[in-house]
Amino acid sequence: MTILLLGSGGREHALAWKMLQSLHCTQLFVAPGNAGTAAIATNVDINPNDFQAVKQFCLAHQVGMVVVGPEDPLVNGIYDFFKNDVELTAIPVIGPSKEGAQLEGSKEYAKQFLVRHHIPTARYESFTPETVEQGCAFLESLTAPYVLKADGLAAGKGVLILTDLEEAKTELRNMLVHAKFGSASAKVVIEEFLSGIELSCFVLTDGKSYKILPTAKDYKRIGEGDTGLNTGGMGAVSPVPFADAAFMEKVETRIVKPTIAGLQQENIEYKGFVFIGLIKVGDDPFVIEYNVRMGDPETEVVMPLLQSDLVAIFKAVAEQQLDTITLEIDPRSATTIMVVSGGYPEGYEKGKTISGLEAVKDSIVFHAGTKLQEGQVVSHGGRVLAVTSYGETYQEAIKKSYQNIAKLHFDKMYYRTDIGFDLF
Ligand code: ATP
Repeated sequence: MTILLLGSGGREHALAWKMLQSLHCTQLFVAPGNAGTAAIATNVDINPNDFQAVKQFCLAHQVGMVVVGPEDPLVNGIYDFFKNDVELTAIPVIGPSKEGAQLEGSKEYAKQFLVRHHIPTARYESFTPETVEQGCAFLESLTAPYVLKADGLAAGKGVLILTDLEEAKTELRNMLVHAKFGSASAKVVIEEFLSGIELSCFVLTDGKSYKILPTAKDYKRIGEGDTGLNTGGMGAVSPVPFADAAFMEKVETRIVKPTIAGLQQENIEYKGFVFIGLIKVGDDPFVIEYNVRMGDPETEVVMPLLQSDLVAIFKAVAEQQLDTITLEIDPRSATTIMVVSGGYPEGYEKGKTISGLEAVKDSIVFHAGTKLQEGQVVSHGGRVLAVTSYGETYQEAIKKSYQNIAKLHFDKMYYRTDIGFDLF
């Protein structure tokens, strides 16, 4: 089968790497891809949000399945676009319907879904410009820290956590009245602060049954000791050591099952990944957020631990036969360390030649922001490479990644040297 994968990050390189291990995958196109996907598949210069261009490509190349990496095409309705077009309806799209993608596209929608299905999450209320003063009064009823969330997609920047009440009120006004995050903050969710340790649970569903993939923990901040600005993610480990069997039992019973049952009850079509951002408060899991696709860099540790055939799993998802599949999971640990451009997540330079890739041994280098320029791999984004390793222990996996990163070089390259250290 010919497969088209949409996206261009480390997540897509990891998905491409995994799908190419399948005998079901005879040809893989990645749109737009990066230098890493170019080395193993065929990149095509198509914007994943240009559905007409995606359609023409699929028809011209007999594409048999579309796998969607990032959230935007899903929130923009690519699943429904294929389903409702007579020429495309036979081509399965791995991802949720536009309605299902609202679990990520609107925080208020996600909170309402969680409450409707009695899934544990922080207490909340949502506000519009007309109800800004009620929002300030709600803030007064809470204790610090205050959690303000822009309702819509804001590239991971739409959440503010503030310790000062007056500042929280000012920011609420900035979001609602002065469009701090554009139309994304035309509505704001204010929620109770939960104190605990975060982790992510990944689920694949065909809309009827589900499979739980290995858990992961990512490291969001740019600086050592989890300090400084938020990034797309500076590294990840999988599985998460504190998510033991007893905790995962609670996650499955209280969160995964009611989520899938809720989608089914509400007739929300969903054939893809559900990424559940969790916080462990004491011994209990609460949902912080849903994402409707895999995480990046979590994919770079979760896919290497999946031993089963990913394309066979996707076929089962498309045919609603997921209950016939047994997942084989590698019992080892996997870690990934992100190598980024100096200055990221603020201003940084691109086009730096990357050397040392051929010297890497016993780790997998997934490309994120890279491209080929005159036959050379150059940096082309903030997050540039994800160096993934396996180990019998975390320590071993992390050590391997750092040993291999030491062989890599580009001008102003930066990475955190403490990924996973808090878990030991
Ligand atoms: P991202 O795209 O970075 O995953 P997001 O913008 O979609 O995030 P959330 O995941 O809802 O937004 O929140 C971002 C971060 O804010 C969380 O990872 C968590 O650290 C913190 N956070 C969110 N809600 C709460 C809460 N109720 N209590 C404590 N911390 C919270």
